[in-house]
Amino acid sequence: MYLPQEIIRKKRDNIELTADEINFFIQGIAKDSVSEGQIAAFAMAIYFNDMTMDERVALTCAMRDSGMVIDWSHMNFDGPIVDKHSTGGVGDVTSLMLGPMVAACGGYVPMISGRGLGHTGGTLDKLESIPGYNITPSNDVFGQVTKDAGVAIIGQTGDLAPADKRVYATRDVTATVDNISLITASILSKKLAAGLGSLVMDVKVGSGAFMPTYEASEELAKSIVAVANGAGTKTTALLTDMNQVLASTAGNALEVREAVQFLTGEYRNPRLFEVTMALCAEMLVNSGLATDIEQAREKLQAVLDNGKAAECFGKMVAGLGGPADFMTNYDSYLEKAELVKPVYAETTGYAFAMDTRALGMAVVGMGGGRRVATDTIDYAVGLSDMIRLGDEANADQPLAVIHARNEAQWEEAAKAVRAAITISDQKPEPTPEVYRRVRPEDV
Ligand code: URA
Repeated sequence: MYLPQEIIRKKRDNIELTADEINFFIQGIAKDSVSEGQIAAFAMAIYFNDMTMDERVALTCAMRDSGMVIDWSHMNFDGPIVDKHSTGGVGDVTSLMLGPMVAACGGYVPMISGRGLGHTGGTLDKLESIPGYNITPSNDVFGQVTKDAGVAIIGQTGDLAPADKRVYATRDVTATVDNISLITASILSKKLAAGLGSLVMDVKVGSGAFMPTYEASEELAKSIVAVANGAGTKTTALLTDMNQVLASTAGNALEVREAVQFLTGEYRNPRLFEVTMALCAEMLVNSGLATDIEQAREKLQAVLDNGKAAECFGKMVAGLGGPADFMTNYDSYLEKAELVKPVYAETTGYAFAMDTRALGMAVVGMGGGRRVATDTIDYAVGLSDMIRLGDEANADQPLAVIHARNEAQWEEAAKAVRAAITISDQKPEPTPEVYRRVRPEDV
């Protein structure tokens, strides 16, 4: 009844598409009856003429429905199904604490995560540094671990939003990734296919963020909130700071170690704590597990203090094939680099600014991330003891401790770390951990 080229022509001429037309086009992508050239032309027409919110909702729903949408009803969960998605950052290990914390408060978090992308780390890569942890369990195991531990963090299966896979691969090679309509539909189609009751979106702002400016991050947050709610999933967003490495570490096994120490109370980086608490609180309120942010924070603090959140993480790791004693013996399971040595600034002064993207690339450069999809990851390498903006760099306070395999790798990373951190006589103005909240009524 429709022709793909007529739908492309309409978008090219800046005429709004109907939901039926968008559905037809996306179904054609899933069935391979729409060619790569047609996907490229469609994406470019959207790039130049953009989409209305109604079109974005239709695109998201069509891509979500191009594959399996998980139905959890047979599991009889006795609490809400909730999740978070982040646009990605450096030292952003939030998911590893957030999932267990929300689970310990009564939520169910079936989190489908991604690998590292560019300079940003990936939750799956971090979890794979745990020996035995299986990121591709069967659907039955995924459901059972979610039920038993309250949280299961796994990788994307080919059955979820397959149309996005084709669209994204084409966008990647046709300069059409950076369009807010397409990003919104791409992120949400995959997340909403997980059958969520509610979602919180963490949109990063700053020198390590995916979006280039505060305004662009805000526009993406508003688009995601409007479209997700339009598609029937209660969603809010937080704009959070990525002008510095979020945790005290960046690197896979190092971040897992920090996550365990956070959950057990051994060590909690204050900025990481604030961002994690804010996102968790938002999830509890959105899903009805708390009446307001204050009550949510009290509940979250309680499950950190009484060990329940740590217990949920341990159960998830064991349920997905990792060691049963991981929470107590994590240090013996996580791989370590041979050369662990601090890097100092060349002059003393305050850490004034960070090129967070460059710090992420320094970790990738050591083998802690991928340059191409087929690269294997070195889980042990990375940075720890990261200086925070406003701290004084001096003989006692290094910029970071570098975990490297050898001296040459250490030297290269040290050069990158020194170049990425600006030292000044002036103390910088502190930046908030959370800039703002975006609710459906704000968009
Ligand atoms: N991440 C996604 O999954 N899709 C995009 O389009 C951009 C970032």
